[in-house]
Amino acid sequence: MPGLVRSPPPARKAGGMEDSNMAAKFDLASDDALLIVDVQNDFCPGGALAIEAGDRVVPVVNAWIRDFTERGLTVFASRDWHPEHHPSFEQEGGRWPRHCLQDTAGAAFHPELALPDSATVVTKGVRFDQDQNSAFDQTGLEARLQRQGIRRLFVAGLALDVCVMATAVDARKLGFEVVLIADATRAVNARNAEEALALMRAAGVHILAPDREAKAETQPGEVEGDAPEVCLKAPEWAEHQRLDDSDMPCDDGRAG
Ligand SMILES: [Zn+2]
Repeated sequence: MPGLVRSPPPARKAGGMEDSNMAAKFDLASDDALLIVDVQNDFCPGGALAIEAGDRVVPVVNAWIRDFTERGLTVFASRDWHPEHHPSFEQEGGRWPRHCLQDTAGAAFHPELALPDSATVVTKGVRFDQDQNSAFDQTGLEARLQRQGIRRLFVAGLALDVCVMATAVDARKLGFEVVLIADATRAVNARNAEEALALMRAAGVHILAPDREAKAETQPGEVEGDAPEVCLKAPEWAEHQRLDDSDMPCDDGRAG
């Protein structure tokens, strides 16, 4: 039934703490899929619609790709794939510079993105009459996920405040459980990052905070919002087992 949000499956136990990889801390199952949004050259430094440090998501995303493919789980990668004179382009009265033109280098996935051959590409932005920010917008992705029995999506990619947000919120509306991998996304406008995260949280998206190693690598003076501060102890995900810092405040009111 459209609009009906399925109740989320029971919380899963956190996995081995000895593994530094975030994905290993989840019991990934056959109903999980990774959805990588628009990690394309035009959204990375040097591209037509460059996002500051957009390419920094690539190694993080690659680690998640490894975790999913090692377990035989599905990886989806969306791409913005515009025809000439797309309505989202400034010269057509749209919001963005000309970007991700079909079959150009700018529209190609980042060369270091380690997409497996088995990855399913989701193409969006092809309509002549409107933009499609969400990977669910008239792409058939929902039907594909349902056919495969996918219930939970781990979402990463570009850009946090536009296509990632639209995709994650749509996924929630369609009843999927959604985990946003916060250190695998960047905003077009860093000032919008917190608002985007708040909107996603309100939609029921679980925000997976950047892991400590990634955070330690953050350079001083980096734009705030680049690595959003969020509760690491979202109850149903962390179950207060993942972290050893028991003195960290948690928004569910329980002791860590
Ligand atoms: Zn676009």
